Amino acid sequence: MSILLALLAALAVAWFLAYHRLPALVWSVVFAAGLGLLTYFKLWPQALLTVAWAVLIVVALIAIPSPLRRAVAGAPLLKLFRRILPVVSQTEQEALDAGTVWWDGELFSGKPDWSKLLAYPKPRLSAEEQAFIAGPLRELCEMLSDWEVTYEASDMSPQVWQFIKDNGFLGMIIPREYGGKGFSALAHSQVVMQLTTRSGTAAVSVMVPNSLGPAELLLHYGTKEQKDHYLPRLAKGIEMPCFALTSPEAGSDAGGIPDFGIVCKGEWQGKSDVLGIRLTWEKRYITLGPIATLLGLAFQLYDPDHLVGKEDDIGITLALVPTDTPGVHIGRRHRAMTATFMNGPNWGKDVFIPMEFIIGGEAQLGQGWKMLMNCLAAGRSISLPANGVGISKLSALTTGAYGRVRQQFKLSIGKFEGVEEAMARIAGNVYVMDAARVMTAGAVDLGEKPSVISAIVKYHLTERGRQVINDAMDVHGGKGICMGPNNYLASAYMQTPIAITVEGANILTRTMIIFGQGAIRGHPFVLKEIEATREADQGKALRDFDRAFFGHIAFTLSNVARVLWMGMTGARLTAVPGAPELRHYYQQLTRLSSAFALTADMAMFLCGGTLKRRERLSARLGDVLSQLYLASAVLKRYEDDGRPQDDLPLVRWGLLDCLYRIEEAFYSIFENLPWPVVSWLLRGLIFPLLMPYGREFAPPRDPLGHDVVGLMMTPGATRDRLTRGVFISANENDPVRTLESALVAVIAAEPVEAKLRQAQQAGGIARGHAAADAGLKAGVITPAEAELLKRAAELRRKVIMVDDFPKDFGKSELHQTTQPVTFEALARKA
Ligand SMILES: Cc1cc2nc3c(=O)[nH]c(=O)nc-3n(C[C@H](O)[C@H](O)[C@H](O)COP(=O)(O)OP(=O)(O)OC[C@H]3O[C@@H](n4cnc5c(N)ncnc54)[C@H](O)[C@@H]3O)c2cc1C
Repeated sequence: MSILLALLAALAVAWFLAYHRLPALVWSVVFAAGLGLLTYFKLWPQALLTVAWAVLIVVALIAIPSPLRRAVAGAPLLKLFRRILPVVSQTEQEALDAGTVWWDGELFSGKPDWSKLLAYPKPRLSAEEQAFIAGPLRELCEMLSDWEVTYEASDMSPQVWQFIKDNGFLGMIIPREYGGKGFSALAHSQVVMQLTTRSGTAAVSVMVPNSLGPAELLLHYGTKEQKDHYLPRLAKGIEMPCFALTSPEAGSDAGGIPDFGIVCKGEWQGKSDVLGIRLTWEKRYITLGPIATLLGLAFQLYDPDHLVGKEDDIGITLALVPTDTPGVHIGRRHRAMTATFMNGPNWGKDVFIPMEFIIGGEAQLGQGWKMLMNCLAAGRSISLPANGVGISKLSALTTGAYGRVRQQFKLSIGKFEGVEEAMARIAGNVYVMDAARVMTAGAVDLGEKPSVISAIVKYHLTERGRQVINDAMDVHGGKGICMGPNNYLASAYMQTPIAITVEGANILTRTMIIFGQGAIRGHPFVLKEIEATREADQGKALRDFDRAFFGHIAFTLSNVARVLWMGMTGARLTAVPGAPELRHYYQQLTRLSSAFALTADMAMFLCGGTLKRRERLSARLGDVLSQLYLASAVLKRYEDDGRPQDDLPLVRWGLLDCLYRIEEAFYSIFENLPWPVVSWLLRGLIFPLLMPYGREFAPPRDPLGHDVVGLMMTPGATRDRLTRGVFISANENDPVRTLESALVAVIAAEPVEAKLRQAQQAGGIARGHAAADAGLKAGVITPAEAELLKRAAELRRKVIMVDDFPKDFGKSELHQTTQPVTFEALARKA
């Protein structure tokens, strides 16, 4: 009995030590003390004690780092790993090396330090940035009519373009010393988001010069002369940039571009024998290409005559080519859905450029892929997520109002359960998306270049955006479908696939990038193990590898202990910081982070190098990581906003949705793992109380959805926080402005309508369209209340009307008939 008790006690102690990840030395001391007691009091037979001491000594020798361990175990393992680790291509390596690891590292650790997350400063705009948003940005939005830009002119007007250039919209990321705005990532995100709510064309036209392109590349890699020359010109829009990577044969596989340059000597500006490059390329889909004056170009560089070095194949290189260089063909356009931002192909054959056109000069020859990956790590965090959130916030604002203003069956459509379900998804998603947008921009402002996180927000904010705009269109019914200046949603709906396709098309981002890169970058040991196998200095390699490998084993064992303990206790005993009302969510996310770390290790161990090809498994693991990140952003947002109790329905909706999606991703992993025993074991460890089937986390429940929709349909602080940044024009006839006015008017009229209904039910007044007059006559309502009813009816009518055109959509009549339809005009017609 005493043996059994001692073994159980040893198991409990081991579990405790593993859960808290205590070092091997502590383990050894604790177990030696226990065995010492058993030996001193002679509680076990001598033979058993001898075996126990022998086991303890052997395990301690393996667990505690020492030259002996390195010689006996570390060296052969290092040799084995050097043989079996998959070869990583140079482009893969450069993608892996790019950027930084931030909160994703904590999530990979299986033990996220929430206090660290909550201690990151709240992202804030400077006074100057706020003034820009309240001033030039507002003015620009007021100048823009998406209908005119998209369907009448197919471009922004020359005045709008000039305003954009003059006010520094194209130089937001360029430092002030070069004449740019030097804005924070948060301000950049805010501007793109707000512009998106007004005009997709304007948003993309502003977004591109501030994202991965000539300015960003020059800032990081340009020579002094290049920076001094180009940055002030780019900041003021004197140069219009574009960046051309994609070619017909190489889209997602951008590292495989066939465009090439040959190092040679040629004639340049009257001088012969100038060292340069003869370039041949064919690019397509290039945003701003048709109006660019400065073409950023990526191509493979070869040096067969060894004019700049010993290598024949130098690698991907980046150049800035003025578009008036002889031989550059540029200016034709593609039509990207209904968006009318400038986008088109360009090409050239045997075009000679001097070496000074290379970004960073000769020192950067062949460094192009690394340069692109480094810049992408930050840029991808900002523009496209802002675009997705902009579309979604516009959907939330307008659908919230429309759901209340539009009535069917004598009731606001937002009060029907079916509509409410779609509307709850809109509001909940927007809260999660905006939280992630702001937190990620904040990370960039802290100096991070979060490569894996940038892929998470690019994918999930554009995908959730797609769901939001779909739901918004459904709730709007025919109003969303009929095009015209009164339609505020259809353009956003049609342009949604663009953000999904660019900067890493979404399927590829989910299946290859998020976990594919994250597993190596974010994992606390994998990269260290890989780097150790590549280390030339054998002594250092062995030390590093030994530390990483045995650390990795301890990490995995600890995760087993943590996952099982938290699964069995529902993580209720796990200590967490933050708002007490969200304690449950912090605990569950801690638990699922450990489960993620364990499952990721299992997948990497079992699949090895083939994990790269198992895209579905990689995608599902990436889904877990992504939802953990989005949920973290929700927790952070609630704290940063000062724990507003009114927002709790949105916060809970977002967190429950993330937890549900995480569990679903885990179950798709279990159900599809090709090793049934491993799958069964993992399921048993992670969800021990629900073996073999069942789910622990349900999607947000109906009453919560009801509360969320109530917030969305009611003007107030929560609705304002949710839709902050949507542009609402001062023009009374602007459709979004009209909708907002209608919402206020309809709410003001609701008690009056209730009074009338009561009187009608009592048989006191007539039903139908004359009810208001009858009510007034009978003294049921006052003249002021009758006015409220009239205003609500007028505005409701104005909101629900859609545009109509002559039969032939004739351009000559278009202008006249696309004026916003007003109730007064209709009444006059009648
Ligand atoms: C409007 C617009 C603007 C653009 N602007 C620019 C620009 O300014 N500069 C520039 O250089 N490029 C630009 N692009 C190009 C854009 O980056 C590419 O469209 C994108 O890289 C995808 O390439 P593709 O369209 O050829 O699709 P493909 O590469 O043919 O991919 C088709 C599908 O297959 C998937 N896929 C491909 N490989 C894999 C894989 N291994 N695993 C899983 N899924 C995979 C993709 O995710 C996608 O869903 C723009 C494109 C558009 C449409």
